[in-house]
Amino acid sequence: MIPQSIIEHKRDGRELTPDELSGFLTGFEREEVPDYQMAAFLMAVVFRGLSARELDVLLSRMIASGTVLDLSDLSPFRVDKHSTGGVGDKASLVVAPLVASLGALVPMMSGRALGHTGGTLDKLESIPGFRTALPLDRFRAVLADVGCAMIGPTAEIAPLDKRLYALRDLTGTVPSEGLMTASILSKKLAEGINALVLDVKVGAGAFLPEMERARGLARLMVDVAGARGLNAVARLTAMDRPLGRAIGNGLEVREAIETLSGKGPPDLRALSIELGAEMLVASGRLVSIEEGRAGCRAALDDGRALQCFGALIAAQGGDARVAESPERLPLAPERRVLRAERSGTVRHLRPVPLGWGVVEMGGGRTRVEDTIDPRVGFLLHVAAGDVVEAGQPLGEVHAAGPDGAERGLRALRSALDIGDGAPSLLPLLGERIQARGE
Ligand code: URA
Repeated sequence: MIPQSIIEHKRDGRELTPDELSGFLTGFEREEVPDYQMAAFLMAVVFRGLSARELDVLLSRMIASGTVLDLSDLSPFRVDKHSTGGVGDKASLVVAPLVASLGALVPMMSGRALGHTGGTLDKLESIPGFRTALPLDRFRAVLADVGCAMIGPTAEIAPLDKRLYALRDLTGTVPSEGLMTASILSKKLAEGINALVLDVKVGAGAFLPEMERARGLARLMVDVAGARGLNAVARLTAMDRPLGRAIGNGLEVREAIETLSGKGPPDLRALSIELGAEMLVASGRLVSIEEGRAGCRAALDDGRALQCFGALIAAQGGDARVAESPERLPLAPERRVLRAERSGTVRHLRPVPLGWGVVEMGGGRTRVEDTIDPRVGFLLHVAAGDVVEAGQPLGEVHAAGPDGAERGLRALRSALDIGDGAPSLLPLLGERIQARGE
């Protein structure tokens, strides 16, 4: 196998045979194909796509690169949720303990920041001591004790996704239906679940912003999961504005804790309740979505979900006092407030400049070896569609120092438009895509 000829075939739109693709992946796993050739290949896939056969080979190789867990002895109701990536999307932090507190098992394997979007693992690691890399026996033990556990791909589970994901984060090669499907489903098919809820983002801040492509991705993931025996359902949800008011790792954990305490921004609460209800029904734990919604509302309001989050933090080595006192999370020393220059309506609150703004302030990576500053980010004081007065605070920048604060302010300014007339926004909770014939 000559790696550059595989890249050229993909670049020129030729379908690779299973042997060609498999050989290329083996070369990468053995470090014979270097990162730069894999990055070129991934970019060719972004432009040319993957055929059904190529996707099948990639997904199978990703799953087979590690162990496939069997957790059937722990619970008959094993379910996970995965988002295709968004700005301010901390719903996993709410939903995992919420659904576990209602009796389903949630073995959640998440990702790190990807492009302009944040990652659940990086968010969790802003909790002092929290470990997202657990050996599998510890992962099992946490699941048995707490009902949920949150880890990343390891040397043991889907390690090929772990390496490809890190490259895609830094090379602009996320937006591909085939790559996203293989990446997401490899983790999910390896983690021993019987049901999966996919939160497929649509709108400017999503990797596939257009409705048609988001719908296609949802259909592809549901069908591929179904063909491999995993009951999956997808919801299209809005990412034409950020989710919630907090963007940046530690700030998002705070907002997740507020939501787990029965408060939090209405959109994050509504999305968490809806996805939680879908998970409870998809796993077979409950029968109706309405029953699921009622259960989720109650568990958020009466402290069960928060208690479960505290237990999860403790079980994964973190400072569990954070669940009751989120002010224990590290805070950035430099804060700047942006005020409205005119009265009017918030017509745009663009997610992408805010996502890159966090990266620019040190809250994301521009190189594989970068460490993340968990303190930096944005706290929005307004939502898209709000009416504001001149001089009113629109949001604040949390930065490590004056330079970062200036960069953050520039990003916040470019994300916001105040104008006249109400904006047209996507519905927070959009279409539901389920297995054919259901
Ligand atoms: N989440 C993942 O795990 N992989 C992707 O490719 C996109 C979002």
